[in-house]
Amino acid sequence: MTTSATTTGSVLVLGSANLDLVVTSERHAEPGETLIGGDYSEHPGGKGLNQAVASARAGAMTRFVAAVGADSAGDVLLGVADDAGIDTSGVVTVDRPTGRALIVVSASGENSIVVVPGANTLCPTASAIDTDVLVAQLEVPIEVVTSSFVAARDAGATTVLNPAPATPLPPELLAVVDVIVPNEHEVDLLGGVDALLASGVGAVVVTLGERGARVHTEGRVTQVDSLAVDAVDTTGAGDTFTGYLAAGLSEGLDLVTAATRGCAAGALATTRAGAVPSIPSRAEVDAVSGV
Ligand code: ADP
Repeated sequence: MTTSATTTGSVLVLGSANLDLVVTSERHAEPGETLIGGDYSEHPGGKGLNQAVASARAGAMTRFVAAVGADSAGDVLLGVADDAGIDTSGVVTVDRPTGRALIVVSASGENSIVVVPGANTLCPTASAIDTDVLVAQLEVPIEVVTSSFVAARDAGATTVLNPAPATPLPPELLAVVDVIVPNEHEVDLLGGVDALLASGVGAVVVTLGERGARVHTEGRVTQVDSLAVDAVDTTGAGDTFTGYLAAGLSEGLDLVTAATRGCAAGALATTRAGAVPSIPSRAEVDAVSGV
């Protein structure tokens, strides 16, 4: 675990934990076609677990609320969280298989992904909220995210929603989101920045890949640049950004400064393969972020 003596914030991450099953293939199969693949590997993933690891590597005291199955994949994922120094007392074991993501990586570097939600569909609500920041994504039931955000609001925590995969958001959820973090594709599907701000969201942080991020608050837009890097694998860049952003907010950083650190972390994550293994340490980020 990477810690920073200057960090005192706490982050509760609510979300998915998946085992990613990855096969390389010359190209993607057409419907009905069978191809012979190349290499095979398994990696911890799920947007929730990725963001929890990013938050922990950023130095925040990080708690994870999630559901896994009583199977070897669940054990692997809990082990990854433990190794990152994450408090897993909020992870429940349920009577469904641990979530999986079946990923085909073609020679051109494009991913095609089928997610099996499994245990994630039984993710519990985070009800006992004792945290500076609550962060969630949409790979667990949206009602669970909504009820957790309502509880977080009541407890005075800052709520951060990464709306991925994008789906229409109910007004009762939008009303309790302090910061929403979509990518360019997701923000379009959600009706755009103006609609999100008008629906009660406090701030919109749009991630723009190599172009960094744009921070929108009522009446103000701030462009945050990313680092120029040689990207080899963008898997997990957005999760790294969100985990670092949440950890920064938990320390009391303002949104633009937290996004600046998130951009540096996201950029570094693209320089290495995989999701969890590519998430940089706080020391690596501090060396390049300038904040
Ligand atoms: P997602 O993976 O959710 O689509 P993005 O592609 O916007 O999210 O990436 C998240 C963040 O990671 C960006 O805001 C940026 O800081 C960083 N990032 C992603 N791709 C690159 C890249 N090619 N070069 C530099 N930074 C990148």
